[in-house]
Amino acid sequence: MFDLEKIIRPNILSLVPYSSARSEYSDGNAVFLDANENPFNQPYNRYPDPLQKELKEKIAAIKGINPGRLFLGNGSDEAIDLLIRAFCEPGKDNIISMDPSYGMYDVCAEINGIQIYKVLLGEKFELNSRNVIRTVNERTKLIFLCSPNNPTSNSFDRQEVLNIINHFSGLIIIDEAYIDFAGHKGYLDVLDKHINLVLLQTFSKAWGMAGVRLGIALADDRIINILNKIKYPYNISVLTQKIALEMLENTDQKDLWVERILEQRRFMAQSVDQLSFVLNIYPSDANFLLVKVKDPDNLYKYLVDNKIIVRNRSRLSLCEGCLRITIGSKTENIQLLKSLQDYESVIQN
Ligand SMILES: *Cc1c(COP(=O)(O)O)cnc(C)c1O
Repeated sequence: MFDLEKIIRPNILSLVPYSSARSEYSDGNAVFLDANENPFNQPYNRYPDPLQKELKEKIAAIKGINPGRLFLGNGSDEAIDLLIRAFCEPGKDNIISMDPSYGMYDVCAEINGIQIYKVLLGEKFELNSRNVIRTVNERTKLIFLCSPNNPTSNSFDRQEVLNIINHFSGLIIIDEAYIDFAGHKGYLDVLDKHINLVLLQTFSKAWGMAGVRLGIALADDRIINILNKIKYPYNISVLTQKIALEMLENTDQKDLWVERILEQRRFMAQSVDQLSFVLNIYPSDANFLLVKVKDPDNLYKYLVDNKIIVRNRSRLSLCEGCLRITIGSKTENIQLLKSLQDYESVIQN
C-alpha cells in the first residue's frame, strides 16, 4: 500500500523549511521593511509571492482543480529534480523510466546519485506494464512515464498505465508536456482517485512560453506540500508570474495555436511520406514527428548546411534511422519540405 511517510526521505520529512518574511505577511498595502528590499524601482524591487497564490488560482480554475494541488516550478524540469530529491536516498534508492524517453529523468537521477532502471518499450514504442512492474524492487521510489512520449510521439495505452498505478506503492509521475496535442484528455480526471499519481504539465509547448520557464506538477496536496517545502523560496520570478497571468487571460489563443499546429502536423505527415528516402512516419500525439529515413546522419547534416535544425535521434534505442522534427509555422514547414525535396534530387543524382 502507498504510504507517503514511508517513501519520503526521513531528512525531508523532518525538515523545517526556510521561512521567508513575505510568506508570513502578504497584505499588499502594508509598509514593507522586512526583507531588505530597495524602496525604488517598483514593481521589480519586491520579492515575488513564494507560493504564487494569484497565478495558481488562475491555473486551478482553468484545470478545474483545487489550487492546493498545484506546484509551480522553473519549468517542469524543476519538479522532476525536486521529486527525485524528496523521495530518493542517494546511493540507495532507484527510479524507473522507459527507453527511449525524455533525457531529463536520467540526468536528474545521475546528478542526485540515484540509480535509474530503463524499461525498453515495444517495437511500436508501446508500454508493457508487466515489464515495468517486474523491474520494481524494494528500493524503487518513482516511475516516470511520459505520455505522449518524447521522442517517440505516441501515447501509452491507458489500461497499461492504470495497471502500473494500481500495482506500485511508490509514486507514478506522468509527464504530460504534450497533452494538448493528443487525441485524449490524459490523466487529470483520475488524479483524485490515486494519491500516488503526479502529473507534470508545462507552459513550454502548447502555451508557447518555453522562454518564460513555467512548469506545473499536479498531485495530492500532501505531495505538493513536500515540493513547496524543499523548493527555492522565490523560484518563480515576478516577471514569470506577471507574463503567465497575462497569457492565461487568453486560452482561446492557445487553443487556436494548437489547432493550427495539428493541421500542420497532418500536412507534414502527408508531405514527408511522399519522399523516397522516408521509411516510416510514426503516429503522433505531440507537436513533432518521429521520421525514419535512410542515412539519417547524412540528411541531418544536409539540413544543418541549409540552416534547418532538427533533432537526430538515430542513436537512441529502437530509433535507428530516426529524426525528430518539430512542427513549425506553415512557412517554416514549407521551407523544410523544400529542402527535403532538394535532398531527394541530390541523392538520386
Ligand atoms: C519539453 C518537455 C518538457 C518541458 O520542460 P520544461 O522544463 O517545462 O520546459 C517536459 N517533459 C518533456 C517530456 C518534454 O519534452
